[in-house]
Amino acid sequence: MPEERISIDLTPPTKSWMEPTVKFRKGTYCYSAVPKHQKYLDLPYPREWNPAEEDWKLPEHWKEIILKGMKDLLGQYRSFKLFLDICVRCGACADKCHFFIGSGDPKNMPVLRAELLRSVYRRYFTSSGKILGRLAGARELTEEVLKEWFYYFFQCTECRRCSVFCPYGIDTCEITMMGRELLNLVGCNINWVVEPASNCYRTGNHLGVPPHAFKSTLEFAVEEVKEITGIKVEATINRKGAEVLFISPSADYFGNPHWFTFLGYLMLFHEIGLDYTWSAYASEGGNFGLFHSSELAKRLNAKIYAEAKRLGVKWILGGECGHMWRVLHQYMDTYNGPADFLEEPVSPITGTHFDNAKSTKMVHICEFTADLIKNNKLKLDPSRNDKWKVTYHDSCNPSRGMGLFEEPRYILHHAGNYFYDMPENTIKERTFCCGSGAGLGADENMEIRLRGGFPRANAVKYVHEKFGVNLLTCVCAIDKATLPPLLEYWVPGVEVAGIHELVGNALVMSGEKERTTDLRGEPLTKFQVIS
Ligand code: SF4
Ligand code: SF4
Repeated sequence: MPEERISIDLTPPTKSWMEPTVKFRKGTYCYSAVPKHQKYLDLPYPREWNPAEEDWKLPEHWKEIILKGMKDLLGQYRSFKLFLDICVRCGACADKCHFFIGSGDPKNMPVLRAELLRSVYRRYFTSSGKILGRLAGARELTEEVLKEWFYYFFQCTECRRCSVFCPYGIDTCEITMMGRELLNLVGCNINWVVEPASNCYRTGNHLGVPPHAFKSTLEFAVEEVKEITGIKVEATINRKGAEVLFISPSADYFGNPHWFTFLGYLMLFHEIGLDYTWSAYASEGGNFGLFHSSELAKRLNAKIYAEAKRLGVKWILGGECGHMWRVLHQYMDTYNGPADFLEEPVSPITGTHFDNAKSTKMVHICEFTADLIKNNKLKLDPSRNDKWKVTYHDSCNPSRGMGLFEEPRYILHHAGNYFYDMPENTIKERTFCCGSGAGLGADENMEIRLRGGFPRANAVKYVHEKFGVNLLTCVCAIDKATLPPLLEYWVPGVEVAGIHELVGNALVMSGEKERTTDLRGEPLTKFQVIS
């Protein structure tokens, strides 16, 4: 890549950080939410407005609304107040954010991102800030400050990498979440968050796929599996009395390369004879409400338990997604639980009790599949994936949000012959974000996405050059959508896949015909790897 593309100006700015200096430059911000989607969700102050224009058409008493909202949030979340109070500005988090690394913008240092809000908190909610003002690091809430919040809280992917390095455990992601909650109160959000949330409310999924289209898609996938394997798999929707409800992100059945993972699920479930059903109502595991507000996340999440109850299943299995698992693992239980109408999940194939899902009653597909492999319940031919030299991107939410480090790697080691981890400081709990999560994956935001994704891409480049890695696997629907353009820019020659695509390729199904293609429809190139 040309050197000039990665040369970043790290000269400190001439103005104090307290002066808001935002310029809404094309490529570095997302478009505002479209009023019809805000209205559909009954969100406050829907209107046409443009972040790049001077007049944001804010409601008359916007300042009072924000300050009252801040007071409410401080009363509601002890962690919020704690995170605002205890930062000692040690700087340990400063260079850990991919957006700071990729942009060189000091306000993208987690500590300074948080100060944008913390300074207003000091001014209105602390004695020192009220008396000493700027001397105590306090500043007035002005329209310019509000614009700065919008710019930088939508340049944070809520990935929580910074929190891993903070000696006090401060989670800047949560400060971003609070910042976004406050912006929502005056109708300031981005369309890439609000439209999927509104679609989800209307049709059950982010993409707005209606039930009949979902059914057709599933039928199409069944045909495709038949073409590849000669086997007609069963895939039912809304079947009452099934043992398991399976929920995946909607991108799995509509996007590329997600689709091949979708085929992999169908093949796996057929092969082990799982008694499961899809749902046309809970046809989305993802939850863009999380990137808007706790209230909206809770509303969108409600359909999962409601549908499990209606269908009378015993427990829930969930597909490959990132933030979906943050919500399911960390919030669902308190949002909409307890799910005492469900049973503690037990694999009907191996008898394994998933103790970690005792409370939520929802198991991650990688936990489920790794357990099948561990108990020798799958026949896998890893050489069918020999054209791939594979590495694994720990998607932020399954890794930092739920500790899913080993299961995906365990599966990959059994489904393929060539696996290479990226450098230690870029994986597992220290994984680098894709740069496009938390609703920032909009096309109009491409410059910031490419900058924010640079550290991830750089680690991929390392294994690409050292080991010839040509496939980046992950278990996140957003990653599968946003990593391809990132890699095309920084590391051409590396493709992106879900783990269950490789499982589907390797899975030797009972009664299958001789396979000539992989799930992408490309010729099987067994034993053709050039080392
Ligand atoms: S590492 Fe923690 S205490 Fe140190 S500056 Fe960052 S948020 Fe503050
Ligand atoms: S949560 Fe992630 S994107 Fe946000 S400040 Fe921390 S490291 Fe940066």
